[in-house]
Amino acid sequence: MTKNRKIAVIGAGLGGAAAGALLQQAGYDTRVYEQAPAFSRLGAGIHLGPNVMKVMRRIGIEDKLNAMGSHPTHWFSRDGKSGEYLSRIPLGAFAREEYGAAYITVHRGDLHELMVSTLDQERLYFDKRLVDVDDSGDKVVMTFADGTTDEADLVIGADGVNSRIREKLLGPEAPIYSGWVAHRAIISAEKLKAYDLDFEACVKWWSEDRHMMVYFVTGDEKEYYYVTGVPEPEWNHGTSFVDSSREEMRKAFEGYHPTVQALIDCTETVTKWPLLERNPLPLWHDNRLVLLGDACHPMKPHMAQGAAMAIEDAAMLVRCLDEVGADRYRDAFELYRTNRFERASRVQKVSHDNTWLRRDEDPAWVFGYDVYEVPLRQLQHT
Ligand code: FAD
Repeated sequence: MTKNRKIAVIGAGLGGAAAGALLQQAGYDTRVYEQAPAFSRLGAGIHLGPNVMKVMRRIGIEDKLNAMGSHPTHWFSRDGKSGEYLSRIPLGAFAREEYGAAYITVHRGDLHELMVSTLDQERLYFDKRLVDVDDSGDKVVMTFADGTTDEADLVIGADGVNSRIREKLLGPEAPIYSGWVAHRAIISAEKLKAYDLDFEACVKWWSEDRHMMVYFVTGDEKEYYYVTGVPEPEWNHGTSFVDSSREEMRKAFEGYHPTVQALIDCTETVTKWPLLERNPLPLWHDNRLVLLGDACHPMKPHMAQGAAMAIEDAAMLVRCLDEVGADRYRDAFELYRTNRFERASRVQKVSHDNTWLRRDEDPAWVFGYDVYEVPLRQLQHT
């Protein structure tokens, strides 16, 4: 009975795809609406820590990801100029034993395609940009940019940093530009063979105000990827990316280690992204609407945990709906918020400060987390 409730997920990004897949697998009547007409393999990588891989196990794609991804033995932090090692964080077999799943790095497009493939394709609607929701009756009425409407009992806003659902709950407010940009480029590892240098599987090069994170995005180590954090006081290009250039990279990383210079020399195309944030939101849900992922806690990507938090949110939300019952959705949503707010806000803060793994530290609170095993903090009145 309770699972007959019709649930709409707005956005089929990494958080929305996870929510859709987990809800459908749990037996909820779930539809996913995505504004993009289709997805393309954008040039970017992503880390998936053991905390996320445990959710991927539940979705049923852990083995495929393990086969697809690169398995670094360590996260190395190095001084950007001298190359001195600042930290050596063990991953590989250590992660599998200590944290209960692998730590991998993959191509974001490959991950996304795999996640979207786990959705019921007949309940996945592309080209559906939500423009309005009316939550005043006994159903939510959703209106899309193409003029169509649909109804649902519950609506999950997984619609990213410029979330329409967040705006509905809290009013219009642009995200905060952090003052930093990220450059992203994928390099053919073949080109790197010309250099007598060691290109490590997962390394972050640091200096005072900027960094470059580098890793393989495929298991065969044919594609190497870098993503930076570089201060840029103003951003006047809207909320999406623009093209950057090898020249701009050379200037930004002048004086950096020869390995970084080699990466810049081998760069063919590089894009530049504004890093956007919001302060922790006072409201994650209201009546039949609830938020997850970047819609409620967008962050600088410097812990490589933004999507991880969106995916953990999705898993916790489904766990809470199962625990409480979808008929008592207000309690389920509050239980979800109670069990996610502190962790997501802490990750937002550490990401903002950009201190993660710069020095040797114990990452168990992030990587060891198991959204299915962590004891639930109960609501005060239940
Ligand atoms: P999104 O991925 O933004 O998805 C939102 C979806 O909703 C999109 O598909 C969008 O088209 C759709 N949508 C939006 N509005 C509407 C609407 N009105 N109607 C219908 N659909 C709509 N995270 C990690 O875990 N590891 C990393 O290594 C990592 N690296 C990063 C590097 C950079 C440079 C950046 C910028 C981010 C990085 N992140 C990383 C963070 C990660 O990308 C985000 O936190 C994650 O994508 C959030 O997922 P989401 O599903 O909440 O939102």
